[in-house]
Amino acid sequence: MLPGVIGVLQANEALKILVGYGEPLVGRILTFDAQTTEFGELKLRKDPSCSTCSVPPPALQPVAVAS
Ligand SMILES: [Zn+2]
Repeated sequence: MLPGVIGVLQANEALKILVGYGEPLVGRILTFDAQTTEFGELKLRKDPSCSTCSVPPPALQPVAVAS
């Protein structure tokens, strides 16, 4: 049961990023307690000296639209 719940959440996050819709889980970690069926969220602070989290991933940067 738990892999199914988490798998659906991961697929939902991937779709949000692919279509550029919604608010993806960026800079946050979602927690799920299967015993109590409770969700939680942890916010992550960026490390200015980290090349991974200090720059937004290319897929999340705004795309220029020609008019
Ligand atoms: Zn980092």
